Amino acid sequence: MEGTTSKLPHCTGVIERYRQYLPVGKSTPIVSLGEGNTPLVYCSHLSNQVGRSCEVFVKNEGTNPTGSFKDRGMTVAVSKAIERGARAIICASTGNTSASAAAYAARAGILCVVILPAGKIATGKLMQAFAYGAKIVAIHGNFDHALRIVRELGDREEFVIVNSINPDRIAGQKTAAFEIVDVLGDAPDFHLLPVGNAGNITAYWMGYREYRTHQESTRVPSMIGFQATGAAPIFHNRVIEKPETIASAIRIGNPASWKHACAAIAESRGAIDVVSDQQILEAQSWLAKHEGIFVEPASAAAITGLFKCCDSNEAAYSFQKIPEASRIVCTVTGHGLKDPDAIIQQMKELQPVDPTVKDVRRAIGL
Ligand SMILES: *Cc1c(COP(=O)(O)O)cnc(C)c1O
Repeated sequence: MEGTTSKLPHCTGVIERYRQYLPVGKSTPIVSLGEGNTPLVYCSHLSNQVGRSCEVFVKNEGTNPTGSFKDRGMTVAVSKAIERGARAIICASTGNTSASAAAYAARAGILCVVILPAGKIATGKLMQAFAYGAKIVAIHGNFDHALRIVRELGDREEFVIVNSINPDRIAGQKTAAFEIVDVLGDAPDFHLLPVGNAGNITAYWMGYREYRTHQESTRVPSMIGFQATGAAPIFHNRVIEKPETIASAIRIGNPASWKHACAAIAESRGAIDVVSDQQILEAQSWLAKHEGIFVEPASAAAITGLFKCCDSNEAAYSFQKIPEASRIVCTVTGHGLKDPDAIIQQMKELQPVDPTVKDVRRAIGL
């Protein structure tokens, strides 16, 4: 914990940078790993896809300490839990929440309990929860079942719930919107992001509105959210009992922040749309190969969504007639290294050759 060691150099996280906008006081101990301040990368190839002199930026949240945007909310949630004297936190997770909760609990010296859907967690994320020393329980069921159990245990036992139903999480996550405005000088015209439990779209919308209220910006963007075809409860306006998608971080059938997401979309004149698993994997590969940004499949949903807005008559939102020089931000939510399974298949094609220049030249294709 910082504060007691103020003479030592320490990493500055989102609480210190945006303290006035967050539910923390002087006596709140800060549990931080230096989260936030992530790159907002101008992407020329993506901008060319849109045309009309538009500028596309990617907010790369994979560079957070545990590799996803969850760290922004977790620093606030765990700091507040410690302030209230908590000795343990609990969460249900599709992977990244547990990775982040486990890390911040380790940092704070408290127990972290993680309830996971068995067999449904990406390799890298599960590895993280183990590495940070969480108490991990796998259940026969999906994320929505896991969250139900967490809610009950949170009521009965001395656990602080650190899922996004915890408002401190949402408060921390809104700092991503502040950073974007701070870098661009104003809010963008459009903000695209993947939607699972819908905490992040809720948080961004809150952040953009707060900044405008404080006259840090002159406008707010239209929020455009993307769900996977097999896990699109908000798009279809009904609970999906068995959500299915390769993008495990958005494999959610009954989003916790459903109403807030609908409000964000309606108030911002945005939209909610769907993208297929096939399109998600293509966009993941495209972004890595054309812009050098490797993201996990759920994150690629935002990029797939951008392509859909550009060239499909079926898109819920069309970019074909947006004003010239519009600014578009896509949040890519988590790092590609977390979910390597699909790409490991390609690596199996790698066959060693003899250590001669001749053989290596042939292997390169010269
Ligand atoms: C949590 C998560 C999401 C979904 O965010 P919500 O706030 O649940 O909508 C998307 N991508 C990644 C990588 C995530 O970890």
